[in-house]
Amino acid sequence: MRYVSTRGLAPRLSFEDALLAGLARDGGLYVPESWPRFTKADFGAFQGLAYAEIVHRVMKPFVGRSFKDGDLQALVAESYAGFDHAAVAPLVQIGRNQWVLELFHGPTLAFKDYALQLLGRLFAKVMAKRGEKICIVGATSGDTGSAAIEAFRDRPGLDIVILHPKGRVSEVQRRQMTTVPSANVHNLAIAGSFDDCQDLVKAMFNDTAFRDRMNLSAVNSINWARILAQTAYYVAAGVALGAPHRSFTFAVPTGNFGNVFAGWVAGKLGLPIDKLVVGSNSNDILTRFLESGAMQMAPVVPTLSPSMDIQVSSNFERLLFAVMKGDGAKVAHLMTAFRATGRFALSKAAMAMIAKQFIGHRFDDAATKAAIRGLHRLTGLVLDPHSAIGVAAGLESHDYKRSTLVALATAHPAKFPDAVFAATGIRPALPPRLADLMTRPERVTALPNDLGAVQSFIRDTVRR
Ligand SMILES: *Cc1c(COP(=O)(O)O)cnc(C)c1O
Repeated sequence: MRYVSTRGLAPRLSFEDALLAGLARDGGLYVPESWPRFTKADFGAFQGLAYAEIVHRVMKPFVGRSFKDGDLQALVAESYAGFDHAAVAPLVQIGRNQWVLELFHGPTLAFKDYALQLLGRLFAKVMAKRGEKICIVGATSGDTGSAAIEAFRDRPGLDIVILHPKGRVSEVQRRQMTTVPSANVHNLAIAGSFDDCQDLVKAMFNDTAFRDRMNLSAVNSINWARILAQTAYYVAAGVALGAPHRSFTFAVPTGNFGNVFAGWVAGKLGLPIDKLVVGSNSNDILTRFLESGAMQMAPVVPTLSPSMDIQVSSNFERLLFAVMKGDGAKVAHLMTAFRATGRFALSKAAMAMIAKQFIGHRFDDAATKAAIRGLHRLTGLVLDPHSAIGVAAGLESHDYKRSTLVALATAHPAKFPDAVFAATGIRPALPPRLADLMTRPERVTALPNDLGAVQSFIRDTVRR
């Protein structure tokens, strides 16, 4: 299997090279050249398999010769062995033909673990084979940083440097990053905003001499391998609930469009999907787009669901590429216009294709709290603000006769205890393995919002 860029100009890559590249050189995102399709018999054979084995079988056709099949199988099995639920991604029924898929049983309590735990192992395997060292650099507003640190800690040949905006991530989120004692983990608290951190990371990648010398790499949410690992839980949930003989509506709290795009991929693989429901907070660029056909940037406002506080959903470009029938020049044209003017609009025909599959619902903070409270009363479940938006969005448009609803719970409520307490009067406890998080020693370096300072820190600290 080969991968092409959504903007049509970068070289085609193998799975392994697309894994390491992240973003394509023409600014596009990598997508597979063609889509394998599982037959009814394939889905039948998935019945009753362990979660990790379903991930392995979903990934296998996409990986090609980049990893030996036995190696892939072993790395996948290892990735989920430490999760705190035997089902890894358990389903909980909340109503008639309505289910919640819990994706917070990994080490950092958010769904990002489901992809990053595997990515850390895939990267380490490639580095060992090539005899190279690599330095992963990323900016985080919370969940990605801790999930990446947990995934890459103690891996030989790898260092990880995570920049977070000083004083602007929650205490649980900060401590999940700064209390990891591993020598290859470096936390930088930057005197600035999340955007400043992201700009510093971009500037490091644009400094080619520095980038090559440190062998920089990124594991942000546009990495194809992350999407693919996430597709597996859609397939696993579908199979557990009767696929391919039933049709599904998946509801997904959405920021960068990575998670819900993984659901769209599951549909391409043959999972019967009726609708994909996008749940947004007040940063509702996608919901406005689905209503109007125009993608229009707006300033980011802080909300109770900070992991969805984003202005541009980068993974949407992958859907555009499919809607434009693989015409990279058209996608490049739209994205250039978007960057220049903050807006693009699609034709009626293109919108009709998207509207057939996607619906959007928006919840401001008041509606989010009402959803947490209402769902607690209705089902006894205590949901975090992101998950509550997903479930409430799903319930808004679900018809139990037409499809089975699966709403994705993307974070454990203890990650966002204040919002949950404000809505329900319940303060959710951290799972036992994290119970001492608030007293563990922290390790973090505070730096000014200055490229030179960050680069000299990395030059001096990262082991070569
Ligand atoms: C990252 C994140 C999201 C958004 O996911 P995308 O793939 O960016 O759409 C939603 N909820 C939580 C808890 C997250 O950490």
